[in-house]
Amino acid sequence: MKKKKLTFTRIYYERDVENYELGRFLLDKYATIPNIPIDSHNNIEELRKYENKDFAKLKRYLIVGIRKTHKYTPNYKISHYLVPFTSSGCYAMCMYCYLVCNYNKCSYLRVFVNKEEILDKLIKFSNRATEDLVFEIGSNSDLLLENLVTEDLEQNIEYFLKNANQGKLTFPTKFDMIEPLLKISDKNRVLPRMSLNPQRIIESVEFGTSNLEERIEAINRLVDVGYQTYILIAPVIITENFKEDYDNLITTMKEKLNEKAKSNMNFEVIFMTYSFIHRKINEEAFPKAINLYNQEIMTSRGIGKYHYKESIKEEAKQYIKELLIQNFKDCKIKYIV
Ligand code: SF4
Repeated sequence: MKKKKLTFTRIYYERDVENYELGRFLLDKYATIPNIPIDSHNNIEELRKYENKDFAKLKRYLIVGIRKTHKYTPNYKISHYLVPFTSSGCYAMCMYCYLVCNYNKCSYLRVFVNKEEILDKLIKFSNRATEDLVFEIGSNSDLLLENLVTEDLEQNIEYFLKNANQGKLTFPTKFDMIEPLLKISDKNRVLPRMSLNPQRIIESVEFGTSNLEERIEAINRLVDVGYQTYILIAPVIITENFKEDYDNLITTMKEKLNEKAKSNMNFEVIFMTYSFIHRKINEEAFPKAINLYNQEIMTSRGIGKYHYKESIKEEAKQYIKELLIQNFKDCKIKYIV
């Protein structure tokens, strides 16, 4: 497996990050690239002037700050709560990424150095709960990618496991850098969920992520050390090759996943939502890329948000559901949305 390396061209950092161990580590690690002090990671004035075509350039900037928002949002899917965790935004460039709400504010990777505060709050919350809760810690970023920067994912998970006497952590990923997860002490309390898509979609839409076979191999390694198989098929993208693409995906999974992984599969299936902002950025930043907006099959819901039309989606849902049931007999489909 080739080692993924992130190349940043600039760091913006809040001055107070120097008061945190992780802050000092990051400033030292990236000392040879231009470092620019800022007042707030939430409002970097000079980046707001960038144009849509500069999207890829912005993604090469690393922002280091202190997380101020700690509000947990109730969730009713795999987890009980979405928890703002140690990062926000991402170095990769999936064309539909829902973190791209306002590209010059929340798409690039922001790493938060006050992780003790973030973790201690979560531990207290978990210990006070009357039931064993599942916390989604990866809804704002991809933690395996973040770990290439901070190198502390294993340590953070262990800190939670050691100090929270109940509670589980879960996060999705599109990457295969799973080494920090292999030695985790209690694998029943950690649920990594691998997000898969057909290789054609990965290549043409999910720029900078691991390819399909690498992700499948990562699932095999995870189940071999004791994790359960959690797979997200997400986001499902409907193109003229939809059936062929997803057939190929399932065939590849069937061939390449090991028997242990296939014996206890949990699926989440999520269809793509898109937006006017994505369209504008993608048109200007990736003019040669596939056009994900299709007026014929999409409808607008809310301001500038696009979803597949209900009838189109229902048929596609049924297709994916049947593919899964036919090929993975005992699998559990947690939801399809
Ligand atoms: S890997 Fe995930 S967080 Fe990163 S750009 Fe892609 S969808 Fe967004």
